[in-house]
This record gives sequence, C-alpha cells and structure tokens, in this order.
Amino acid sequence: MKFASRLVSFDPAPLDRVRPMSTPIYQTATFEQEFADSFGEYDYSRSGNPTRKVLEDQIAALENGARGFCFSSGMAAIATVTRLLQAGDEILADWDLYGGANRLFGKVLGRAGITVRYVDASDPGNIIDRITPATRLIYVESPTNPLLRIVDLKTVAEAAQERGVRFCVDNSTMSPYLQNPLDLGADIVLHSATKFLCGHSDVTGGALVVNDPKLAEDIYFLQNAEGGALGPFDCFLLLRGLKTLKLRMDVQQRNAEAVAQFLTTHPKVSSVHYPGLSTHRDFEIQQSQARGGGAVLSFTVGSHGAAKRVAEGSKLFRISVSFGSINSTISIPLRMSHASVPIDLRALRSLPEDLLRLSIGIEDDEDLIQDLSKQLDAI
Ligand code: PLP
Repeated sequence: MKFASRLVSFDPAPLDRVRPMSTPIYQTATFEQEFADSFGEYDYSRSGNPTRKVLEDQIAALENGARGFCFSSGMAAIATVTRLLQAGDEILADWDLYGGANRLFGKVLGRAGITVRYVDASDPGNIIDRITPATRLIYVESPTNPLLRIVDLKTVAEAAQERGVRFCVDNSTMSPYLQNPLDLGADIVLHSATKFLCGHSDVTGGALVVNDPKLAEDIYFLQNAEGGALGPFDCFLLLRGLKTLKLRMDVQQRNAEAVAQFLTTHPKVSSVHYPGLSTHRDFEIQQSQARGGGAVLSFTVGSHGAAKRVAEGSKLFRISVSFGSINSTISIPLRMSHASVPIDLRALRSLPEDLLRLSIGIEDDEDLIQDLSKQLDAI
C-alpha cells in the first residue's frame, strides 16, 4: 500500500467486537483480571493501554519499524533514549539541536555521569573522527533546527554500525511521510509528536520507533519503569491528526517552497535556509534521503530589531514556539525555542539573533507571501 492508504487503512480497534471506525479512548487506569495469579494482555495503563497500542503500532508501521513507543512529550522520548546509557558513556551530538535537548544533555545527563560532545554533523567526517571507545550514542536531527542543515544519515549510520554505536535520528521536522531514518540505517527514530504527527497544536507527545527486538525490550522496560507514557485521550487525538498527515504535509511543503522562493528574492532578506531550495548547500543529500524540504524554514533580516518587527507585525504568522501545525507560525529561535542553548554552544553554532524561523501551515500561499512581504517592505 502507498503511504496515503496506510495512513487510514489499519485496524483502529483490534479488541472491539462492535468494530468502530475510530479508535475508542480506553480512559481507564486499570483492567480487571480473570485470574489472581496471572495477567491478561492489559493490566495497568502505564504498562499498556489499547488506545496507545493502536497508535504505537501505527507510528511504527509508518516509520517502517517493528515497535513504537509513545511518551508524554518529545522530551520524555529523548530522556528515555539517554536512559539506555550508563555512567562513563558518551553521546556524540550534532550542535544544531532543539534547545530542550541541549538543556537535558547539558544540565541533567552530567548527574548520571554521561558526557555529551557536540560536533558539526553536517560533515559526517566530524562524527566519524570523534567516535571514541566511550561513545555509545550518536544523536542528530535532520534537517537541523533552526538552521535547516542536513546530516548525511546513511553515511553516519554506516560509521555508527561499524563501530557498534547506536544512532538516533530526531525526525520531527520531516515526519515519516518525508523521511524514514530506519531505512537509512538508524537504530532509533524519535519524534516530538507535538509537531507534524499531531499537526493541530493540541497534543504534547513523543514517539520512539526501533527495529531491534532487544532495543525495543529495553525501551519498553524504561517506558513502564519510569512512567512517561502518553495518556489515552492524547493518543486518540494523535491517531486522529495522523490520518491527514499526507494531505497536510503536501500543502504545507508546497506553501513552504513558495515562501522560500519569495524570500530569496526580497532585498531585505540576507539569507534563506530551506533544504527544498536547489541553492541549499546540502540539497543533493536531502533529495537522496528525503522526499522534499518539509515545511520549516528560517531566514535572516539583518538585525534583531528587524526580526522582531517582522514577527510582531505579521498577521497570519502567529508568534509561537514549536512547529508542524496547520497554522503558520513565526519565532525568533535565539530568544524562544533555543533560549536554553548555552552561550558557548551558541557561538559554535553561530545562531544569529536576526534569525526568524517559520513553520508553514495550510493557509493560501499568496496570503502568506503578501503578509511577509508587507512586513519585510516596512523594515
Ligand atoms: N525535537 C525537536 C526537533 C523539537 O523541536 C522539540 C520541541 O520543540 C522536541 C524534540 C521536544 O519535543 P516536546 O516539545 O514535544 O517535548
């Protein structure tokens, strides 16, 4: 089946005799047991819930993986990945990560004796050269956020596999419709399901998908032991949002291409970062590993003041952190989503203060361009 069919053709309620068309919300903490000395399939919703199971299986299937796990947020999913490590282990991470991942890596993992080293992973050589015997995990986003740089996932996956290091890819900016890191050799695909999987800005959630049965067992153990699983109602909302992923993404990506093209022609715009532009530094790699440039882009306008004016003046682009919703949003990453990036890392990453990030929605592209044009002309 093609992706569009897979999004809606799955069993929404494997256990339900009345065959509902949509997955019931099993809003229950516990399940009655037949026997007092053995458990049935479900006993307690932290350990397993039928609504969550349908969602986890569906996300796993869409990522071409064997097992999926849903968490209360993308950060809970990231934290779970780091729990696979032990004191003395090291993470090699790309330096252009979501600010919350930097906060967790920098302020929490040290307490567990785990070291994180940052590299510019857009050159795979930088990763390969820096793997040490202590390296247990390579962690990247691609496209990166907010600079939209591209990591050559296949090359990094091969190097990781050769050295017995696990490779985790945060696929939030692409979604499984546009990119499938497991097919490129990654061990773990991670999502902030809050973004395109949900698509409507009404759920905070996270997901992990893997193929390796031992890894799946370890992640399930942590999900149950630490209690970060997603609740049934949020699972229902995610299942509902997921069905229109392709419809949304097709329009959002097409709009993003139009907006990116427009920005490249505007005299007040000094740089545009969008991997769907043929002028993007890593356009060829993106073309080889993904099905388009997605719907997130960033650009610079010369000064923080000008960026603030564009963000605050625009009508259709609402100022908001996060991305992936049907509504277009605008943000200044350095002051918002990435404010928690430590100063030294900011310098390394050259995160400019005049950088604006756009998440493009499903509005009419001409309206979006007109709105931006008006703000840019006024700078
Ligand atoms: N990964 C990326 C790329 C993100 O942008 C975010 C949040 O913005 C996260 C992970 C964390 O996800 P959540 O906010 O759902 O915890």
